[in-house]
Amino acid sequence: MSQGLWIFLLVWIFALGAVIGSFLNVVIYRLPRGRSIIYPPSHCPSCDQPIAWYDNIPIVSWFLLRGKCRHCRQPISVRYPLIEATTAVLVTAVFWASCLPGRQLPHSAPFGPLWTASIFGHLGETTATPSQLGWLAIALRTVEYSLLLCTLLASTVIVGERQAVPARIFLPMWILGLVIWLILPWLPEFGLQQTADPIEAAFGAGASLAAAALVVFLAAWFLGTDVRRGFAPALYSASLLLGAPRTLVVGTGALFAYTVGRILGHWFAGLGRIPLVGWLLAACALVAWLW
Ligand SMILES: [Zn+2]
Repeated sequence: MSQGLWIFLLVWIFALGAVIGSFLNVVIYRLPRGRSIIYPPSHCPSCDQPIAWYDNIPIVSWFLLRGKCRHCRQPISVRYPLIEATTAVLVTAVFWASCLPGRQLPHSAPFGPLWTASIFGHLGETTATPSQLGWLAIALRTVEYSLLLCTLLASTVIVGERQAVPARIFLPMWILGLVIWLILPWLPEFGLQQTADPIEAAFGAGASLAAAALVVFLAAWFLGTDVRRGFAPALYSASLLLGAPRTLVVGTGALFAYTVGRILGHWFAGLGRIPLVGWLLAACALVAWLW
């Protein structure tokens, strides 16, 4: 791919990520308060005036308005552009990492040959051409990890606000998880149907959930109920997208980082305040980038 096209793609994905971040702001504000995330359209929480599209451009509008509502001049929290920028960076980084040679789909290894086709590498007996399968795999990997990181980011902010994480927030991950384990292996576009085996797929999904259950059990053993808020449903949902090995790594990694964070929190107060699900987000972001 030419360098110009590559930069255009990255800018486009970054903008898309910022728009998703804007939607996350709506989810974070409305879902714990039991409101619809679709209706009504965005309005100022202070004066209730609807926000025009030109005042609702992710990241940019906050700076143009100097962090104040156009109508009532009340300050708009810096959290809004911050979440938009964070989401944009995470989604772009996930896409970038998915384009690196030799990357496998998160839930592939080590259970069976369902997903042994690496992105640019060996394809085995497949009906798809390398570039087709490559782009499909890159797109799927990007969607999987983006959905995972966005859900965890929203959960972290909700827990940080001392609100309960609504179960509905994990529904998209369960839907994608079921598609991955039950439907995708049989699609001829992925060229892998000759190796698809229902028992193997069920075993892979079951092993992932069992890995999550083990980490949740460890968390319950070592940490208080209040600390674990949102962690168990987040990890069970994540496990369907990650597969068993990565679930064990991010789960125990989050427990370990949380404990270290609490100890260092005596000196750096900010570290001690990061919730467990926030450390899970950090662990998943690291795994998405490196693995
Ligand atoms: Zn206002």
